Amino acid sequence: MSQQASEQVYSHYIGGEWHDGAGEETFESVNPATKESLGEFQRGTPEDVQTALDAAEEAKEEWRDLSYVNRAEYLWDIYHELRERTDELGEVITKECGKEISEGKADVVEAAHMVEWAAGNARHPHGDLVPSEIPSKDAYMRRKPRGIIGCITPWNFPVAIPFWHMALALVEGNTVVWKPAEQTPWCGQIIAEMFEDAGIPDGVFNMVQGFGDAGNAIVEDERVDTVLFTGSSEVGHKIAGKVGGEPGKLAACEMGGKNGIVVTENADLDVAVHSAIMSSFKTTGQRCVSSERLIVHEDVYDEFKERYVATAKEVSVGDPLDENTFMGPMVNEEQVEKFGKYNQLAKDEGANVLVDREELDDDEIPDDHEKGFWVGPFVYEIDYSPDLRCIHEEVFGPHVALMSYSGDIEEAVEIHNDTPYGLAGAIISEDYRQVNYFRDNAEIGLAYGNLPCIGAEVQLPFGGVKKSGNGYPSAREAIEAVTERTAWTLNN
Ligand code: NAD
Repeated sequence: MSQQASEQVYSHYIGGEWHDGAGEETFESVNPATKESLGEFQRGTPEDVQTALDAAEEAKEEWRDLSYVNRAEYLWDIYHELRERTDELGEVITKECGKEISEGKADVVEAAHMVEWAAGNARHPHGDLVPSEIPSKDAYMRRKPRGIIGCITPWNFPVAIPFWHMALALVEGNTVVWKPAEQTPWCGQIIAEMFEDAGIPDGVFNMVQGFGDAGNAIVEDERVDTVLFTGSSEVGHKIAGKVGGEPGKLAACEMGGKNGIVVTENADLDVAVHSAIMSSFKTTGQRCVSSERLIVHEDVYDEFKERYVATAKEVSVGDPLDENTFMGPMVNEEQVEKFGKYNQLAKDEGANVLVDREELDDDEIPDDHEKGFWVGPFVYEIDYSPDLRCIHEEVFGPHVALMSYSGDIEEAVEIHNDTPYGLAGAIISEDYRQVNYFRDNAEIGLAYGNLPCIGAEVQLPFGGVKKSGNGYPSAREAIEAVTERTAWTLNN
């Protein structure tokens, strides 16, 4: 399935084979720019998940007993394929989830970075040799794989996030059962084909297509040692709650955000406007780090507002395969409805609307794309109040609140921190005292200074606090979720 879906109904990949599922139901992958079907996929059932877990269980011991370097070889093959096929896969991502083409390709590059980092990790130190109180004793910490890792991923980074979950888990010696997001099964199919092409031993990597019921079956099965989840806080908290009651089992949940950018009185406004535009509208506001709150000092508020609003009115919404497009469509009707509901809520809560492109004019929609899930930016100003829902709940769309503050950085950070979430945030300021104050006091896991509030480095932990994370970030720190540690002492 390298270029375009065909008439075939695509199945699951279990135990090294394409596996017809137990259920009768199928579902479609839909291009959000055109509403055209991209292919039909079997809908996985809890029974299919059991079959995948049987395969993962059977493969566990042999895989664990290979060396790190041996296991990494399979990932290096995939790394090269991701690099060679970046343009082609970027196009698939764009067709399936609607983000514009440079972002589609960047998704593949980010996947390659993660695979490179995880495979490279096979030659890095994996524990600590520590001094013992007894001179004849060696004392050190050793890591071992946890066993079976269940991976449940969202649609908005349909290639990068699965590799964030799976690459390190596999190199560390675990087997994997993965459920891709129901909106992006085509990307799931291609990733499974990559593992097949790499010749990974049967049962080490397994993929079951489907919806939340299949995800839930992964969460509930006692053979799963760790659940790696990325998605909404609503689902993540349910998963963490279920797994929390099972001794020895772990759930690492990366969840939503209501992210803010603080613009102080001495900020470089070119940087501030660029940061806010990128963070609010790239991926049509459907990134976990997208910024829906701009907290701007009153001394620069009017100028910032004028420039930001002028740009928001002009950002191009259009064919995501066109390199000149800034924003593609939203992913589906459900997201469009949610966006509309929150725009109305903001109006009901007293917003002064500055940009309302919720329903685009006919001439703003590409000619042959009239059917897609098209929306444009919705921007408003509102007086900060702790009681407003519109500035506290994640919309996951191009819905942005501008708020001013008059005091010092302490006031800005207090407003910034007043959300139940704690994923990402940025400060735009030329004053190092203010930057440092934000760094030390913003309640977030990902902090950006004088940068757009988007982007990730695989060498750093990626994750949030409060309602956005449960203490197990992805990327570098994911090793804590996919390995166990043994304290080993040996008398010589
Ligand atoms: P979602 O929570 O609706 O779905 C995520 C995955 O969970 C899907 O594969 C889905 O099928 C599965 N799922 C749904 N119900 C389940 C259940 N009861 N048990 C087990 N699995 C279940 O999220 P989404 O709409 O795909 O993605 C958008 C959300 O993800 C946003 O809130 C966004 O902020 C968040 N997100 C977070 C990060 C991060 O790193 N923190 C990254 C990307 C997206």
